[in-house]
Amino acid sequence: MDLGIGLRKLVEDYCGGMRGGKKFKGAIAGGVSMGALGPDQFDAEMDFDIGRKYQVMGLGTACPTIFDEDTDMVAVARNIARFFANESCGQCTPCREGTSWVYKLLVRIEQGNATSKDLDLLLELAGSMGIMSGTTICGLADGNNWAIRTIVNKFRDEFEARVRPSLVPLGIGAT
Ligand code: SF4
Repeated sequence: MDLGIGLRKLVEDYCGGMRGGKKFKGAIAGGVSMGALGPDQFDAEMDFDIGRKYQVMGLGTACPTIFDEDTDMVAVARNIARFFANESCGQCTPCREGTSWVYKLLVRIEQGNATSKDLDLLLELAGSMGIMSGTTICGLADGNNWAIRTIVNKFRDEFEARVRPSLVPLGIGAT
């Protein structure tokens, strides 16, 4: 098949369609570091412009993983975060500490023990790890960043549904 084939066409014409006739929910175009496509991106063209057009890092391996309507995207994010936390070799502080914090926050969210402030913190961490040039040696932190940030942003409602409102009053600690 040609570079640029639509993801929907790839799934429907070459892979036998969505398993059990389920609805498409999202996908990873090629390797978790590339980030996730959302529910409205089933027609994404599998080519080198996918990052620019669909807010992911890129095409990666071009071996997509498809999520159907029953997939728990919080669990997906937690599983990806566990991978990165395990793989971090520990040489760079932002990666060593950040991947571990992101994983712990996602476990807390998945288990229903988090507040909206934890979700904000998760996004702050996922948005800042590895993006400062010179602070990490390799791209692992960036991979974690893209995976978690795109999943939380594109499936935000699932994360919101798992957290409680923060009870910390505004202005606490102010003098
Ligand atoms: S960014 Fe790369 S080199 Fe640095 S701690 Fe993470 S895995 Fe190790």
